[in-house]
Amino acid sequence: RISQRFSTLTAIEDPVTPPVEVNYTKLLINGQFVDAASGKTFPTLDPRTGEVIAHVAEGDSVDIDCAVKAARKAFDEGPWPKMTAYERSRILFKFADLIDEHNDELAALESWDNGKPFEQSAKEEVPLLSRVIRYYAGWADKIHGLIVPGDGARHVQVLREPIGVVGQIVPWNFPLLMFSWKVGPALACGNTVVLKPAEQTPLTALYAAKLLHEAGLPDGVLNVVAGFGPTAGSALAGHMEVDKIAFTGSTGAGKIIQELAAKSNLKSVTLELGGKSPFIVMDDADVDQAVELAHSALFHNQGQCCCAGSRTFVHERVYDEFVEKAKARALKRVVGDPFKQGVEQGPQIDEEQFSKILGYIKSGIDSGATLVAGGARAGNKGFYIQPTVFSDVKDEMTIAQEEIFGPVQTILKFKNLNEVIQRANASPYGLAAGVFTNNLNTANTLMRALRVGTVWINCYNLLDAAIPFGGYKMSGIGREKGMDSLNSYLQVKAVITPIENHSWL
Ligand code: NAD
Repeated sequence: RISQRFSTLTAIEDPVTPPVEVNYTKLLINGQFVDAASGKTFPTLDPRTGEVIAHVAEGDSVDIDCAVKAARKAFDEGPWPKMTAYERSRILFKFADLIDEHNDELAALESWDNGKPFEQSAKEEVPLLSRVIRYYAGWADKIHGLIVPGDGARHVQVLREPIGVVGQIVPWNFPLLMFSWKVGPALACGNTVVLKPAEQTPLTALYAAKLLHEAGLPDGVLNVVAGFGPTAGSALAGHMEVDKIAFTGSTGAGKIIQELAAKSNLKSVTLELGGKSPFIVMDDADVDQAVELAHSALFHNQGQCCCAGSRTFVHERVYDEFVEKAKARALKRVVGDPFKQGVEQGPQIDEEQFSKILGYIKSGIDSGATLVAGGARAGNKGFYIQPTVFSDVKDEMTIAQEEIFGPVQTILKFKNLNEVIQRANASPYGLAAGVFTNNLNTANTLMRALRVGTVWINCYNLLDAAIPFGGYKMSGIGREKGMDSLNSYLQVKAVITPIENHSWL
């Protein structure tokens, strides 16, 4: 019955033609769009249909090496690290203006390649992209060292210098936002970059990099090499001339990257990895509001968020009411073509993720959780999945432990604060948590006790440019956004000079 409801509601069968053309499909190396050295290409697919959008040049270790050499030359000999920080900031500000001018094209390309609702891309994500770039453009001429008191007659300065050539590997769930979180701070600090977009979503990084060159970025400062993880990605992480690698994606790939970094030149590593974030609803909360917030905490972006509130812990006193209302909300969720107005949920990124999510749904049913909504694909083509809700979920079930990365809400019951703290923290991940309560003491206790990088109290998914983001435990190393990100793109140099004539001392 539920299946029928979704397939009639969605109008999935008749995809809208996206209002944008694909113009950039080659690798961007040293300011030029070029074919891969091997001549190979790979298809990037439309998640609504599984059909090919475009064939994109497939970079591998040879192209990565070329791009790293270009970035190295641009760093060692080019103007970028040497120009005034003010000039650098002006180029980044110009880039942000160009993003705004091309908002709808970037948004359409992002939604076409990724499947996320166009309204979300156009009204939230592309504006946040330019906001993040402006935030770091503003920082460029405010990064400076200091003079510290030396012991005796010495002049001691501490310089903060760019780290050099930076490798950046980004995922497919927020291709443009991840581009800004990575490229913004790296360039503001004067580094040069080789960025590898995800193989599922290479198109917008190429477009954005083109706009950055239009804004005046010198050749070789940002190189974009599309390609696959085990070939292009690992060549970047293991390259001897890359000084730092920044990665966002799965914890498994993060471990490989850290190992490659260690085995090559011990380059510094920042990792933004997976999560299984608790969303805690106390019994004093307004249940209707809590249901709505928990719903968006999980279902936003088709459930493909590293910080998704994917363990919904609900106090036993409001549990039954919460489950009924969460079910009703999920059944109301508008699934459909991302280019149609009012659509809240598009297709999952690809067949692999689609099958993986359906596998988790089966595992939930098999392990005895109660399926209260959804549970199957939506429509009969592309990678759409019905908004799915499980109640009676137990901590030891796979669906409560592993990252599903899809539209599957798992609702768990708890009795008291101490118990929920212990259970929320009993995860190898520590990316984020949501707390829903009207009691200040409860909020304060949870805020301190949860071992996670972000705690959202009575809100969720607020990700402003100035707010640091990153994980405890196996959710990562380091922070992105905010001031904290800058430190990971800077080296610290101490300079000590004896003062010969120090009669003034
Ligand atoms: P992934 O980690 O494999 O891919 C992310 C990026 O890493 C891509 O650019 C990919 O090409 C690259 N990569 C993959 N293997 C690599 C390697 N050996 N060396 C270097 N680079 C490599 O993620 P996925 O396979 O696309 O998705 C699998 C799971 O990862 C998802 O189900 C989800 O749980 C998780 N994920 C998390 C995030 C996040 O934001 N934390 C994003 C995407 C996926």
